[in-house]
Amino acid sequence: STILYNDSFLRREQGKVDMEDRGYQFGDGIYEALRVYNGKMFLLDLHMKRLNRSARELRLSLPYDTNHLAENLDRLIRENQIDYGYVYFQITRGAIARKHRFPEQKIDCVLTGSVEAASKDEDLHADGIKVSLLDDIRWLRCDIKTLNLLGNVLANQEAFEQGSDDAILHRDGVVTEGTTCNAFIVKDGVLITHPADHFILNGITRIFVLELAERLGIPVEERTYTTEELRNADEAFITSTGVRVTPVIRIDDQSVGDGKPGLITLRLLRAFNLDVEQFIAE
Ligand code: PMP
Repeated sequence: STILYNDSFLRREQGKVDMEDRGYQFGDGIYEALRVYNGKMFLLDLHMKRLNRSARELRLSLPYDTNHLAENLDRLIRENQIDYGYVYFQITRGAIARKHRFPEQKIDCVLTGSVEAASKDEDLHADGIKVSLLDDIRWLRCDIKTLNLLGNVLANQEAFEQGSDDAILHRDGVVTEGTTCNAFIVKDGVLITHPADHFILNGITRIFVLELAERLGIPVEERTYTTEELRNADEAFITSTGVRVTPVIRIDDQSVGDGKPGLITLRLLRAFNLDVEQFIAE
């Protein structure tokens, strides 16, 4: 396959990273993952806006602007003949002798990108999933999409070992988000999700689903909620680029609501899928 390396296109085997790359040594870098439908990147502008924000927060300057990056990613999709799948790319601060503080001299950051084929509906679980409720042990800048995912990795692994599909995390009883997704509940017809502050990543799918809710006239509250509220919710679901809107039907050993995907959850999923179909047809 072909990969993107800075401004060049290489064969996968040629994509080598320096052992002193700060992304490799410190996780000092940022990334984005997008879905490709019919050869086009879905919600591209929102992803690029978030990338620029992540770069600003880490004081990392991109090697070139996001318009040029989008052109390169388009070419990557074409060269690999991807109709449906994912684009992943990351940018690290670059390679230099290991020291925590930023390099004094200017070094080039390192951008790498790849694509992966996946069917149109891959990773969707409309029947619902089971989650584990686990402690959120991550740092306090979860709003930045950085390569540092160890807190997410450990929780995701623990959930897997418990026989769950993912974990929903909480800080002292306040639900934040999932290890790879945002978390929503529905109570008495109201959609509730954690506000977009430094405790969660503001998912592009989260933003899109809030827009869908407004369009459908579903009342929304962006506020914190407790694990108690999660356990007593009428409905729960997670959102991400991969899973779109996925019902949560079990939390540890307890079912959510009547143990079936909720009506508002399914309304949002249907609206989401319609928008995807429209995007494909455009
Ligand atoms: N939160 C976390 C921690 C994530 O890793 C992701 C997936 N990147 C999300 C939320 C969802 O973000 P998005 O909707 O942009 O995929």
